[in-house]
Amino acid sequence: MTFSSFGLTDRLMQGIAATNYTTPTQIQQSAIPLAITGTDIIGCAQTGTGKTAAFVIPILHRLAEYDVAQGGFRPVRALILSPTRELAQQIEDTTRTLARFMRLRMCAIYGGVNMDAQTKQLKHGMDIVIATPGRLLDHMNRRSLDFSKLEVLVLDEADRMLDMGFIHDVKKIVGQTPPQRQTMLFSATMSPEIRTLTKQIQRTPEIIEVGERRKPAENVTQYFYSVPQAGKMDLLLHVLEKETMESVIVFSRTKYGADKISSRLERKGLKSVAIHSNRSQNQRQRALAGFKQGHFNILVATDVAARGIDVDNISHVINFDTPPAAEDYIHRIGRTGRADATGDALTFVARDEEQHVRKIERHIGKRLNVQRYPGFEFVKPETSEAYDDASTERPSQSRFRGHREGHQTSYHRQAPAPSGASGDGEKRFDRSSRSAPSNSRYGKSESSESRESSYGKRDFKRSSAPGGEGKNYSRFAKKSRSQSSW
Ligand code: AMP
Repeated sequence: MTFSSFGLTDRLMQGIAATNYTTPTQIQQSAIPLAITGTDIIGCAQTGTGKTAAFVIPILHRLAEYDVAQGGFRPVRALILSPTRELAQQIEDTTRTLARFMRLRMCAIYGGVNMDAQTKQLKHGMDIVIATPGRLLDHMNRRSLDFSKLEVLVLDEADRMLDMGFIHDVKKIVGQTPPQRQTMLFSATMSPEIRTLTKQIQRTPEIIEVGERRKPAENVTQYFYSVPQAGKMDLLLHVLEKETMESVIVFSRTKYGADKISSRLERKGLKSVAIHSNRSQNQRQRALAGFKQGHFNILVATDVAARGIDVDNISHVINFDTPPAAEDYIHRIGRTGRADATGDALTFVARDEEQHVRKIERHIGKRLNVQRYPGFEFVKPETSEAYDDASTERPSQSRFRGHREGHQTSYHRQAPAPSGASGDGEKRFDRSSRSAPSNSRYGKSESSESRESSYGKRDFKRSSAPGGEGKNYSRFAKKSRSQSSW
């Protein structure tokens, strides 16, 4: 099937061609023909399947009649609701790209940025508004928006919107739109709450399901590694050293943890950036842009902040913790293997997180193999400070009194293992004995304990310290890793 078989308008077809979309993805093949007839749709599709274009293309086709260079006020014809700012931006980007040869007006409205500037923008009139529910309601309360001429409403990632407590906001917004509108709802999961919502806001919707919705994308290979909580930071560094990675997202359950992981990586000379909801919108945008442009190859993110991140070529997702909700796991690993690319998802499993793995197993209906990372063995540090350093939970006052970020991890403090000692202990204490391969990606010198980083754009190479004390970051290690059993 090709895009030309949908009978789309010329300017839109030019936009699709210029975006380099040649073949519609599965969700696009199912959704586009239905959506252009005005039918309400429930789309069960994971992120990375091309679902954004699946609803944006029919909207643009429908709005072609307003595709004129007319200067006056234009009422909102299409509204797309998104749970997060990042996703809203992403949708806006996709819409602008596809509509680049059309003269439609559009904008994204979300919190964390100046409201007056948005009000000014809205005064000119917008054909398409992409918005997060909270900020949109603020504008509606100020009467800077009117949806009386609205034709299409989209709820993207509706399950997340409900999880984030937006249900009342969503209902209020929907209540101010014309009942004869077309409503498309996309969700990775179909909970009873989502079913109830669809009954309330849609009319005889068609359900489109892409793949088995409980299953992670097939082009993502999954690995589960057992590691004590206190050994996770060491394992992360070990993995970054061993694997060949284009760009990596490390997921942390908490904001505190995300900051901590990022600063630990920086201290080891690995350039990274953390995004979470405590960061201002500007900081988040800058971080994401830096990651997209390759200034940072490692992004540390919380679940909420990572919503809507659409970056090509994410080779690895690393779950620093095992998410307690199986849905979050599916979403996290969906950040890699997007469109037709392949990706690896590595999940660190502490003993008390094994129950979460069982939950994921039940959710996707497959047995998962939790194994040790080859060549990694965690040696419990002698001092409590070293142990604390590896924790990503916010420290309690008493236990962590006097703890400073500057403390080093265990393995740099311990005495070298006796020569001939087996296992990883030896490797970790005697890095200098390993020669760095010429194609090393993450290679870094022992002197990189300092914050200084010589990382260039998309360049994970670091020069060896004088005397050839460079650390090995072999790209061949990956081959030796055994795959999860499913
Ligand atoms: P989404 O699921 O909407 O987040 O899209 C995931 C990725 O797939 C994005 O980078 C899109 O640009 C890309 N994509 C969407 N549709 C197509 C297509 N028909 N051909 C190639 N790539 C696509």
